[in-house]
Amino acid sequence: MKKRFSVIIIVLLSIGLLIWRTSFSKIEKLLPININISAVMVKQGQYIELIIDNITSSNLTVETNIVKADNFKLYYDDNKAFCFIPIMVTKLPGIYYIRIYDDITLIEDYLITIAEEDFAIQYLVVEPSLFQEVTSSKAYDEYKQAINKAQSYDVKERWWEHEFIQPVPGRITTEFGIKRYTNDNPSPTRHLGIDIANDKGTEVKATASGRVVFADYLTTAGNFVIIAHGMGLFSYYAHLDSLNVVENQDVKQGAVIGNMGSTGFATGPHLHFELTFHRVAINPWQFFKK
Ligand SMILES: [Zn+2]
Repeated sequence: MKKRFSVIIIVLLSIGLLIWRTSFSKIEKLLPININISAVMVKQGQYIELIIDNITSSNLTVETNIVKADNFKLYYDDNKAFCFIPIMVTKLPGIYYIRIYDDITLIEDYLITIAEEDFAIQYLVVEPSLFQEVTSSKAYDEYKQAINKAQSYDVKERWWEHEFIQPVPGRITTEFGIKRYTNDNPSPTRHLGIDIANDKGTEVKATASGRVVFADYLTTAGNFVIIAHGMGLFSYYAHLDSLNVVENQDVKQGAVIGNMGSTGFATGPHLHFELTFHRVAINPWQFFKK
């Protein structure tokens, strides 16, 4: 009697274990797509990070009215997809959307609130001849061409983590996003980076690991370096006195890429540092260690 009872118990336990294991593996297979969004309330100059987990196909699409379609992209890595949506400094505050589709099925629909950032106004006085030279259409075309070439390097891996380093210590002379008047003329564009002033020759370091995709002289930016960090993120370093890197060179975070100078459109030794997602400049402060 006792023996038969223990046999029944063992059989029941085995059946239970079998049911539990099958249902467990079924759950594993049926895990739904999981979407993580960094924020639904943002300010001008910030960005939104989407991480889509447990994807089974590469038929996902992201649709938004925040930026143009060529200012963001989906990047796949194993069973995850990443998407970074930059908010332009001039984006009108209001309610926008981000929609995520799996094939033609809408799987998520976010309402995004963009609030106004309080950007300051700066009045700059420069030598009229220098101002004329750097604002010429020739200088502008040269800069645009260089940016286009550099940004065509689409590195699909992600070489950056959060916590970038400030490329050089010093005094912040011009903040990100400010509206600028040069010799009393309102500039049509905003100041899209931060200016850090220090002694000429101070070492300038790569803010994060990546590949140098531009290292040359330009009329406006002077000696100029652009680093691709992957998944659409680039960093710019302008007005360098000398360059320490060449194009196609891989650099680790903290590598010395050049020295501070005042080449190009600069009134004194400083670094103009800029971060962009697919050509849209974003506030660098959100990447630095607090
Ligand atoms: Zn600047």
